[in-house]
Amino acid sequence: MSFLHTIKNKLFDLFLPRACFVCKKSGTYFCRTCFGNLDAPHDEQHDLPSWIFPLKSYKNPALRNALWKLKYKGTQALADDFGPHLYEGFLALYGEEELQIGGHILYIVPIPLSKKRLRERGYNQSELLARALTRAGTSTDFRIANILRKTKNTEPQAKIKRRHNRLANMRDVFVVKDGMQLENAVVFLIDDIVTTGATLKDARRALLAGGASRVYAITVAH
Ligand SMILES: [Zn+2]
Repeated sequence: MSFLHTIKNKLFDLFLPRACFVCKKSGTYFCRTCFGNLDAPHDEQHDLPSWIFPLKSYKNPALRNALWKLKYKGTQALADDFGPHLYEGFLALYGEEELQIGGHILYIVPIPLSKKRLRERGYNQSELLARALTRAGTSTDFRIANILRKTKNTEPQAKIKRRHNRLANMRDVFVVKDGMQLENAVVFLIDDIVTTGATLKDARRALLAGGASRVYAITVAH
């Protein structure tokens, strides 16, 4: 953990002490026990392709509240507490696929916001989650990389009700930034929530077109 990051967190905790969203234990937003007890992603998961790996069900009110605060209420420190859980998800995928054999380069890639939304919000929650994941997994040799660029200001997916409209809204939205070499790259996309998977599918399309060997996605919730 970087020095600046530590100082920022200590100051933050001084003014707004952390407490577990479920059991109210202090010092963390989600203690290990309570996060472990959250429901697994609900049945709709069979709609998602197997390369998308959500950790928990979005139906849980405590988790929904936490993700809402992370995204819309500026509670950026919340991302830290999801880091170890995301890293466990990463290890589950990474171990399973035995990616270490092939001499791959591991990239942790946050789903980018459009420039407009980044300006409005001031931060990208997916990037905070990606950074928290890499801080939790210091023994793993991966690189966090903002490889993707969002080319359109899309409507927020949550505002679009019909599934096929959501898919159309997210078509050809992402491109790989110029000059990025993705040969032998295994990419783990990071996002807070997956719903239809349209965003992640389009990001994956761009990464594979850019030469990535394999692309997976880990999200906090579905
Ligand atoms: Zn707890």
